[in-house]
Amino acid sequence: MSLDSLYQEIILEHNRKPRNFRVMADANRRIDANNPLCGDQLTLWVKLEGDRVADVSFQGLGCAISKASASLMTAAVKGKTAAEAVAIARHMNDLLTGKLDVDKERESLGSLAALSGVSRFPMRVKCASMAWHALEAALDANNAEAVVAGSAS
Ligand code: ZN
Repeated sequence: MSLDSLYQEIILEHNRKPRNFRVMADANRRIDANNPLCGDQLTLWVKLEGDRVADVSFQGLGCAISKASASLMTAAVKGKTAAEAVAIARHMNDLLTGKLDVDKERESLGSLAALSGVSRFPMRVKCASMAWHALEAALDANNAEAVVAGSAS
């Protein structure tokens, strides 16, 4: 199986069975995001416990890439510190905009490398980056007014 078809399979599988696809009642951050170019919509919930992303979930409508990217994102950042999660999000933005040497980073990216092909399709970059921008916004302390329930300790 070629790398391209393996990556395509990962994206299709995450689209069919998105991870962490649910409303979170006890989240302390919530962000709505959309990508008008494609019609993708996303609500992201994050539960911060101290500095740790204790839980993260999303719901939304959109194309396979937007949904798979959000699913991969939640799986990648759950349990990480906020700083680690932001670092991954910035790394992914570089990947999606073609600024990263994918061959060098393939191993550390793991299944996130499945999104590397998106950089070849400028129309789809925003589909894939929406979830990562939403994550950065949710973790930004300046967006603490996004708190919807409980309190970020
Ligand atoms: Zn899309």
